[in-house]
Amino acid sequence: MAPTPARDLLRSLPPVEEVLRSPQVSALAPLLPHDILADCVRDAVDAVRSAILAGSREPVDSAALADDACARALACLRPSLRRVVNATGVVVHTNLGRSPLADEAVHAVTEAARGYSTLEYDTDAMARGSRHDHVEGLLCALTGAEAAIAVNNNAAAVVMVLAEFAQGREAVVSRGELVEIGGSFRIPDIMAFSRARMVEVGATNKTHAADYERALTPDTAMLLKVHPSNYRIVGFSEQVGMREMRALADAENERRRAAGVEDEVLVYEDQGSGAFINLACFGAYAEPTVAESLRGGCDLVSFSGDKLLGGPQAGIVVGSKQLIDRLKKNPLARAMRLDKMTLAALEATLRLYLDPERALAAIPTLRMLSEPDGAVRERAERLADALRRAVPAGCACIEVVPEVARAGGGALPLCDIPTFAASISFERGDAQGCEAFLVSKRAVPVIGRIKREAVLLDARTIGEDDIAEIAEAVRAYFEGPGAAAASAGIAEGAAEGSPAPAAPAAGRSAGAGA
Ligand SMILES: *Cc1c(COP(=O)(O)O)cnc(C)c1O
Repeated sequence: MAPTPARDLLRSLPPVEEVLRSPQVSALAPLLPHDILADCVRDAVDAVRSAILAGSREPVDSAALADDACARALACLRPSLRRVVNATGVVVHTNLGRSPLADEAVHAVTEAARGYSTLEYDTDAMARGSRHDHVEGLLCALTGAEAAIAVNNNAAAVVMVLAEFAQGREAVVSRGELVEIGGSFRIPDIMAFSRARMVEVGATNKTHAADYERALTPDTAMLLKVHPSNYRIVGFSEQVGMREMRALADAENERRRAAGVEDEVLVYEDQGSGAFINLACFGAYAEPTVAESLRGGCDLVSFSGDKLLGGPQAGIVVGSKQLIDRLKKNPLARAMRLDKMTLAALEATLRLYLDPERALAAIPTLRMLSEPDGAVRERAERLADALRRAVPAGCACIEVVPEVARAGGGALPLCDIPTFAASISFERGDAQGCEAFLVSKRAVPVIGRIKREAVLLDARTIGEDDIAEIAEAVRAYFEGPGAAAASAGIAEGAAEGSPAPAAPAAGRSAGAGA
């Protein structure tokens, strides 16, 4: 039989109104506005039309087209930003939102968000207060600094420090520290953007104190030290330590004072992850803490709130009162200031650090990094048991395997953290298909990884509560496409009759409607 010509196939495409009247699609009518549903149907028809124009000669399947429209509509109902299960073993996973917050921080966010707050109100003075005050005292107590300011993120902090202190002047940095972080943050670009003149010194693998010394001119505003984050030069490499950089700056400042010049060379460290506590699990990879950098003679240190610190997204700068006061007056501090919810989360997280034992137990990032491998192994065993119960007989082999977890977030890249994962080897289906199902077809995506044709689900980064969720997702994969479609369906709330979300978050049609 000759294939149907494209013209006839195009003519057999159902009208949008007809698809809207199909039982599947009309069942969704109470859940979302008509225009959005109609857009989803139009997109589904367009997809089939494009396939025909691209050469497909399959007869048009109206039922499948309606199913596709339903899937698009359900995707609109589902929040775009939603919870996932992180079974990757990467603790500070930037794509998955970095650090989960401690319960205390979550509670503080809820309180701040729900009502009015003391955000910029000083109850003692009964007058306007400063939003900086909520975290400054804590940051000083925890790092030994004289003053502190927190802004939107560490990238903002770096831009602000460079713009305030080195704009139009020279900032000296080692060639071994001109790093790129996360694809969009590159030290040379940030310097150019802040209009600081970058003076590179040393070589990629080795920079000596004399290199910095030779670079000093009357126009030098700062010596910049950048934490190499996700990158290490191993072998014969050398960078200049904080104490040596301090000594160089001191000698230069002495010369300037003798010559009657007021202006001082600053030593600034972008510490990246920043840490208040050095965990035993870091072993030989332990990095200087913020307090150690300050004691080493750094004038200013900046770091992220949501990497090893385990708090909300923020960029924190600590240092002398005189320098921080200048930052507080910089317009960038206003443009990149923290909102009340983030401040609430940051304050609550910092409070936990006042008792380091409590911080280790309560801050999820610290807890996951420092959990003994025995406990991780036991959780991996419980996960494996749940998976064995969930997977139909003869479909897969489940075992617990030793693996390596990572701190992530550019911290401790060489530090192998021992961990255990539940490994699924397939007798039916395959690792790629299962991974794709767990990620794309579930209301709560489960993110693991593939190694040698097996799906690995790392127990270090999951909670006890995640076990049932993971087992259910894997069961749905093995129970075939019917179960798959059901589980990809409406987010729990909508299915159980709670009010439909006001504005669907996904899809261009939703965007146009909002
Ligand atoms: C992560 C990182 C940054 C950027 O911090 P964000 O909080 O993600 O903006 C800057 N510098 C270094 C060295 C980093 O590791």
